[in-house]
Amino acid sequence: MEVDISKAIVRGYAAKLESCLDCDLVVVGAGPSGLLCAAHVARAGRNVAVFDRKLAPGGGVWGGAMLFNEVVIQQAAVAILEELGVRHTRVDDRFVRADSVELAASLIYRAVHAGAKVFNGVSVEDVIFKGDRIGGVVINYTPILLNNLHVDPLSMRAKVVLDGTGHGAELTARAAQKAGIRLETPTGGLMGEKPMWAEMGEKMTVENTRRVYPGLYVSGMAANGVFGSARMGPIFGGMLLSGQRAAKLILEELGR
Ligand SMILES: Cc1cc2nc3c(=O)[nH]c(=O)nc-3n(C[C@H](O)[C@H](O)[C@H](O)COP(=O)(O)OP(=O)(O)OC[C@H]3O[C@@H](n4cnc5c(N)ncnc54)[C@H](O)[C@@H]3O)c2cc1C
Repeated sequence: MEVDISKAIVRGYAAKLESCLDCDLVVVGAGPSGLLCAAHVARAGRNVAVFDRKLAPGGGVWGGAMLFNEVVIQQAAVAILEELGVRHTRVDDRFVRADSVELAASLIYRAVHAGAKVFNGVSVEDVIFKGDRIGGVVINYTPILLNNLHVDPLSMRAKVVLDGTGHGAELTARAAQKAGIRLETPTGGLMGEKPMWAEMGEKMTVENTRRVYPGLYVSGMAANGVFGSARMGPIFGGMLLSGQRAAKLILEELGR
């Protein structure tokens, strides 16, 4: 019986991983923007893989603010909460609040249930770059990287890669630095996140969600890091709207 359990796990994981070696979309970072984008693109019938270096996908949603596990969502994004089936309570004409654990769990469930393959404990350490386009990602198990083990990674081809890595826009920063590419930003480089300004940050998170190089899109806090916009604190509507917009843009590109 012990061996049969092991066989089932090895075969299931191998099949899941192999089905993603050549996929439509790789989402790097299972935060709210990445998970919602993955759910929409997978629901449209596309092959989607999501990687998060942590054990629990969900990014910064779980902890609410300073571990007070409630999040605030503005009216513009309430329809997304309702689509996710997340219960919420009216705060005033501008906001509702919701349980951050319920939101994180719903986002993960929706992405997986739509058909996206979520790989936790896997870090994206590099991109595949062939001259004029980002063409995929290079992955390794987080414990290998944490222990500084000398182990080669695996590579995975993707028509589109989404950087949903949050603060620091880690993937775009690495691609720009290593490939020496000029990003599609006003300065041609990473512009860096600005201090707290909730209204502006929320608005710009959505506007900044776009392509930054052929084959590479940004969402969520990574989008603000790349395009030099403000942070906004524990209001999550912008992250959800960003994920929705990323999916729309990526599906337009995949449909071409
Ligand atoms: C110090 C700090 C400050 C914060 N300040 C704000 C703020 O001002 N405004 C705000 O709205 N929220 C803030 N948050 C909360 C949170 O980051 C965001 O609100 C929200 O969760 C961002 O969503 P996101 O979609 O950009 O991705 P995130 O929730 O940030 O998730 C990104 C995910 O990417 C994963 N990841 C990163 N790099 C890699 C990689 N190379 N390979 C694989 N996985 C990777 C991470 O493990 C994480 O799960 C803050 C969090 C922290 C820790």
